[in-house]
Amino acid sequence: MNKPFTKDSHQNPLKQRKKNMLIPSRPFNPIRSPPPFPAKPNHPNRMPSHSSSSSTTSSLTSTSPSHSLPIGTQCEEELLSLREWQAWGTASPVPTMVAQVIKNMKALERDSDSPMTFGGVGGKLQGEFKTREDKKHRAVYQSLTDPESKLQFFSARQIACRLLGSRGYLCQKCWLAMEDCMCSKMASCSLWHRIRFWLYMHPKDFLRQNNTGKLLWQIFGFQAATLCIFGIDEHEGIMWDAFKLAGKDMVWFLYPNKNTTSYSIQDICLPTLSRSLDGQSATEHEENPLNFVLIDGTWSNSSAMFHRLKEHAKKIWGDDDLPCITLSGTGASAMHKLRPQPSWDRTCTAAAAASLLSELHLRPELGLYGLDEQAVAVEDALEVLLDALTNRRLRMGRSITRREKDHFM
Ligand SMILES: [Zn+2]
Repeated sequence: MNKPFTKDSHQNPLKQRKKNMLIPSRPFNPIRSPPPFPAKPNHPNRMPSHSSSSSTTSSLTSTSPSHSLPIGTQCEEELLSLREWQAWGTASPVPTMVAQVIKNMKALERDSDSPMTFGGVGGKLQGEFKTREDKKHRAVYQSLTDPESKLQFFSARQIACRLLGSRGYLCQKCWLAMEDCMCSKMASCSLWHRIRFWLYMHPKDFLRQNNTGKLLWQIFGFQAATLCIFGIDEHEGIMWDAFKLAGKDMVWFLYPNKNTTSYSIQDICLPTLSRSLDGQSATEHEENPLNFVLIDGTWSNSSAMFHRLKEHAKKIWGDDDLPCITLSGTGASAMHKLRPQPSWDRTCTAAAAASLLSELHLRPELGLYGLDEQAVAVEDALEVLLDALTNRRLRMGRSITRREKDHFM
């Protein structure tokens, strides 16, 4: 799908960069309020065994040996601190390769007389520096020999560029330009503790103003709705470690793939729930949440993302048949039904989450957990986001006419 954005061209990202306001469709048909800067992660130096991150990092490093510094030096901290990284919406350690890419970009800037400038959608590099950096990152990419390393480098560079281009421009919590910050209008809510969302996000959607997946951790907190960026080793490692622990029957995917066996909400097995409701004490295992993975990328990117999920599933479960949920569409919350004209696309990521919660609420054994209210909290947040984007668009004198492709992501 083409991104419905026009490219802006400015030197100053703080003042002049404009964004398209309205929002591309998705492949979907609590108080756990996050502290602004979560506590240190448990495993700041973890290196997931299933990945090839170490080899990738070393080959990346070897391409630019003159700029390499040991990870964890003071310089590294200045380039991308844990505090800054986590403030953008994640509880993970700083991704090693993102830090490396930032370091190399800063070194390139130092060594050349062209300053790093950003503009347009997603903090794209511009000008003379862009030309130099293009040449350099293409050389690094070519030097990587295996597809996994190439993917990880691609993702890390995307994240690095978006991050550098958004510093001082976007609000770290809501990913809107600071003058449009909607944080004061967002209400947090506790997600029922037996549900956990994973936002499996394409790197090109990281820090996108019209992304709706971000709303879920803004509402429910990082632990209840966790960002996992496609190709970022630290994120994927955390997610798959959690899935390994949970077991395959506790992990569900929202992705209506015709080639995959599809399940409805009724098919979700809640093996220990009834016992807990009977008053028996639940063991730690019984309190494990149901994990729902929301694929947060455009249609064109989502098949690659789903393919990667299947590859990981095969590694840990020996089976790549991912259990996919198809929403019936009957689960719109009471609030949603009352509104004369829903102002968002039902297929955007957050709306899919709201529908999922509403449909779960309709299961008799789940009627007591406030899932309907949690769905409404998501819908309310979507309204807040749409208002913020619309106001910005009006202020900038842009049309607010929504075309087919102009929807929330
Ligand atoms: Zn904000």
